[in-house]
Amino acid sequence: MSIHTHPQAGEKPTPRLPLQLVNAATARFECTYGRGCEGVCCSNSTPPVDPGKQSLINGILPRVLPLLRPGARALVEGVGYIDPDEVHEGNPSIRVESEWCVFFNKGCVLHQLGMEHGDSTIYKPVACYLFPIDRDSHGRWYIRQHGVDEEQWTELFCLAGTPDLPLAVDTLGFEMEMAAREDARQRLEEAEKGPVSEV
Ligand code: SF4
Repeated sequence: MSIHTHPQAGEKPTPRLPLQLVNAATARFECTYGRGCEGVCCSNSTPPVDPGKQSLINGILPRVLPLLRPGARALVEGVGYIDPDEVHEGNPSIRVESEWCVFFNKGCVLHQLGMEHGDSTIYKPVACYLFPIDRDSHGRWYIRQHGVDEEQWTELFCLAGTPDLPLAVDTLGFEMEMAAREDARQRLEEAEKGPVSEV
């Protein structure tokens, strides 16, 4: 038996990924926002926000409001940015106005304000900054693609996974790092809850 840790001639090295993704070897993806894509992943997107993130967003809402589209601002001022009837993963989602997330205005306003504090993820929902990485219906991390795990968002062309696109693991370095952190956070949260006692 021979074991080698270095790639042989003509062999592509296996990248060391920060977390296990079930379709890492095959998924293809490249974000072209600002290079042909107008931000379609923010159209009718309804990302969930947990109470901690809501509290952070609430804290900067006075700064957010003037940056919103007029219709989105009126909606947020009238009924708030949370849609309690649209629940994903146990948390309510962000409202949509005129088919776009209320926080979208030629880009994500939450991203923009986060960048002013040196971190684009502070106010942005987790689902947004991990996209297209997510957990599949079995709870495993994967890269969203048409035809995988009954992907519903078929109008999102960036999830087509066509052969002309680069391998997703070569373009999603930031998202994989953030998903690994999220994975660690969730594991810690589970451990702190302790074992489920039998009744
Ligand atoms: S919160 Fe920001 S990134 Fe997420 S869907 Fe809304 S505009 Fe897009």
